[in-house]
Amino acid sequence: DSTARAEIGVTGLAVMGSNLARNFASKGFVTAVHNRTSSKTDALIAEHGSDGDFVPSNTPEEFVASLAVPRKIIIMVKAGGPTDAVIDELSELLEPGDILIDGGNSLFQDTIRREKAAREKGIHFVGCGISGGEEGALKGPSIMPGGSKEAYGSLGPILEKISAHVDGAPCCTHIGTDGAGHFVKMVHNGIEYADMQLIAEAYDLLRRGAGLEPAEIAEVFADWNAGDLDSFLIEITAEVLKQVDAKTGKPFVDVVVDAAGMKGTGTWTVQTALTLGVPVTGIAESVFARGLSSATAQRAAAKDLPGPSGQLELDDRAAFIEDVRLALYASKIVAYAQGFDEIVAGAAEFDWDIDRGAVAKIWRGGCIIRARFLNRITEAYAEDPTLASLLFAPFFTEVVSAGQDSWRRVVSRAALAGIPTPGFASSLSYYDGLRSERLPAALIQGQRDFFGAHTYKRVDTEGTFHTLWSGDR
Ligand code: NAP
Repeated sequence: DSTARAEIGVTGLAVMGSNLARNFASKGFVTAVHNRTSSKTDALIAEHGSDGDFVPSNTPEEFVASLAVPRKIIIMVKAGGPTDAVIDELSELLEPGDILIDGGNSLFQDTIRREKAAREKGIHFVGCGISGGEEGALKGPSIMPGGSKEAYGSLGPILEKISAHVDGAPCCTHIGTDGAGHFVKMVHNGIEYADMQLIAEAYDLLRRGAGLEPAEIAEVFADWNAGDLDSFLIEITAEVLKQVDAKTGKPFVDVVVDAAGMKGTGTWTVQTALTLGVPVTGIAESVFARGLSSATAQRAAAKDLPGPSGQLELDDRAAFIEDVRLALYASKIVAYAQGFDEIVAGAAEFDWDIDRGAVAKIWRGGCIIRARFLNRITEAYAEDPTLASLLFAPFFTEVVSAGQDSWRRVVSRAALAGIPTPGFASSLSYYDGLRSERLPAALIQGQRDFFGAHTYKRVDTEGTFHTLWSGDR
């Protein structure tokens, strides 16, 4: 059928979908486009129709008919119910062997369910994490596709072509079966939350603690971006801090309400980690910190609670700035280590074979957490694919070792001055917890045995024990 000539289709042409479609077309793919409300399709063609070979359709039937077999359709609609509705509608029109891709931010459990249902119809379902926001979608995102190896065989080369590239390598790789792609995208977002929180804490320490102005802090971040911390988030932080509000002439950051929003992927990362029993403390604290920031009524009521003012007594400001940089770096490594631990636990639970080095590699470009040090993570896992914690890789052990005096100084000074550092402090506690030879968990086991006969194990004898406590009730 000569009319069925599109190599890839995109349905859902809001900002993400239309930018992805333009990305496909710009790379030379014949791109079928469809949106429930056809005015969006018309607008895309009117504005960008001449930039590539688009095949627009007004109905799902025409859309499906415009695609070459095996059809490859990316769904970019609202996550949740709308995605299910579109999957149901398209599944009726597709044939065995076709590939349906969900590029939205879906919960990986939904993806597992949808993949199973599609498989029963002979349709390949690919839950595909896409990071990089609207600009990434247009110019090259980081792409995390799940689904079958077979589906990746024909879909992979197309996705790799539109993904970001770093040192010639695409930021797209097959993550694992069914929900693996969306799982890894979820953890990516969790790490993103932690990264942002740590940067915000560094800013707070320099602003409230050291008394620097936003423009000065912008310079500090720009300077950090030229070194080990080189990353998209540090770079845009400098830009945001440099920004002056047009209306008032004040620093932009001072006219923004200090209540952080969220859409839910950070919460999912933490909920999933709790279910899997993985201590992702840095990520959890960053989600809670957003929650605390948004508890505006409670915060207003709390403003007279006693405590220090937040100002630090500094005799060497430059040394303090360097301490904060090293504390940020060490805390960030902990956040990544915890995120990768969650990936390992998820892979074990859901039977995925996930190559952590390959994940770090595709996060080097396109996505929000892209950073120079991801190269080091790739190297660490290449050297030892079974690494029990990123913190044990020699490079990272060395970084944390070199920075830990600074880390401890920053956390303790912040506590004395009354500046909250949930990210820095919880990461440091995690690090100390991990390396402690004995933890007070022994006492907790004793308490549990006392009140609930939960039993305990002994350090010197095999087996399970219960003590007849004198207080036994
Ligand atoms: P969005 O606002 O999440 O969704 C709007 C699109 O969904 C429109 O095309 C809309 O069609 C369609 N839609 C809604 N309900 C529908 C239904 N019942 N049936 C058919 N279509 C329906 O769009 P977006 O911001 O471009 O995001 C798309 C997806 O990408 C989402 O899952 C989002 O979470 C994800 N996302 C990812 C990133 C990232 O960085 N990776 C960033 C933003 C969003 P109409 O025009 O007809 O209303």
